[in-house]
Amino acid sequence: MRSESAMKPLADVVIVGGGILGVAVAWALAERRFKVVLLEEKSLSAGATGCTFGWLNATSKTTDWTYHRLNARGMEIYIELEARWGCEALGMGGGGYLAWVNGDDSNAVDSLYDQIRRLQQWDYPAELLELDTLRLLEPQVRFPSAALGLFAPADRWVEAPVLAGFFAGRVRSLGGEIRERCPAVAFRFEDAGHLAAVVTPQGEIATAIAVLTGGIHLPALVRMAARDPIDGERFAVRRVPGLLVQTPPGSAIGLIERLVEPLDGSGLHLRPTLAGGVMLGADGIDERLGDLPPGEEPQAQAAELLHSAARHLKALDDPGLTARSKIGVGVRPVPADGFPIVGPLASAPGVYGVVTHSGITLAPLLGRLLAEEIATGRCPDLLKPYRPDRFVGAAVH
Ligand SMILES: Cc1cc2nc3c(=O)[nH]c(=O)nc-3n(C[C@H](O)[C@H](O)[C@H](O)COP(=O)(O)OP(=O)(O)OC[C@H]3O[C@@H](n4cnc5c(N)ncnc54)[C@H](O)[C@@H]3O)c2cc1C
Repeated sequence: MRSESAMKPLADVVIVGGGILGVAVAWALAERRFKVVLLEEKSLSAGATGCTFGWLNATSKTTDWTYHRLNARGMEIYIELEARWGCEALGMGGGGYLAWVNGDDSNAVDSLYDQIRRLQQWDYPAELLELDTLRLLEPQVRFPSAALGLFAPADRWVEAPVLAGFFAGRVRSLGGEIRERCPAVAFRFEDAGHLAAVVTPQGEIATAIAVLTGGIHLPALVRMAARDPIDGERFAVRRVPGLLVQTPPGSAIGLIERLVEPLDGSGLHLRPTLAGGVMLGADGIDERLGDLPPGEEPQAQAAELLHSAARHLKALDDPGLTARSKIGVGVRPVPADGFPIVGPLASAPGVYGVVTHSGITLAPLLGRLLAEEIATGRCPDLLKPYRPDRFVGAAVH
């Protein structure tokens, strides 16, 4: 039999993973007076949250109304957080999102119109802008002479590690505990089958509920907790790398005022940083990152990224900029069908898993919804389309 001391300390819920989802879930539970302990193997924001673009939006989610609605609800929570705590504390910047096409490209114009029409039908703020207004909003951008733009004023950006640090601070202020450099290494279950404790190298934490928010490591955590491999299928996650370049602090003050994206097929996107630089990424370059030999730094890809951005922003046309910039590759946890997976493991009673792409946009909302489910025992309506059992025939109750 285990001694009483081996079982200490006790938590209502143990959260495993100190990325944005983990701290958001922990905060939402602490707000509901659950005693929470969050375990992070390395340090807070060591995973995707530490290397993310941080675009908060529902603008790019226009193929599926249910998913758009989830993201739009996520944005409403950010508006609430901003009103309560202020942008500075959250590490957030506003100004909306501005994308443009060359008006001579009829296919691009058609899809821009479609996107704006759909966003407006779905009550998400979006408007069509012509060249004069585009230039007023972003005077430094070299727009094509026939440019047409989409402006989504509600979109925001955030320095995710600052936000995660803020959420962690709220958890601590509500009596929750955050343990860094303390991985979960096993899960122990009662004879009856329910979760009894999360095991760490520093001892066991007795708890009846654990929430796994390990990002790309979620499948490994699920395998550790599950007694049936079927749970592995429910929480399958692809790893999708993404290159981000940040120009040095103070290098681009006032260069752009908001998130900007030339819709020219490159997938290039830029935003200001809190430190007075710009952050850049490009979907077209990300698609080729998998070809990078292991251990090789993506210097050439970073130079290519800055070079393609310089076509739109002359100030970035500086050959020495790559060497002075911060270059990082983050790895996105992307569920098999691209949509969030939130819910209980079928074969590990008391254990929940949460994973999503667009996790920065969705974390505060998913945190609240999962806390509601844990508190009430009922799955909130907004989560119903995103249950893990959609991937297999058997339902989880
Ligand atoms: C390049 C890039 C651009 C992106 N752009 C956007 C964007 O513009 N907007 C947006 O909304 N989203 C964006 N995303 C996605 C977003 O960043 C992720 O969805 C989000 O950060 C995932 O957060 P998470 O908490 O699930 O995972 P993570 O941040 O990866 O956190 C998981 C944590 O779990 C820890 N862990 C793992 N195993 C254990 C263990 N056994 N014990 C304890 N801890 C453990 C890890 O150390 C890690 O810190 C982007 C991602 C990337 C990579």
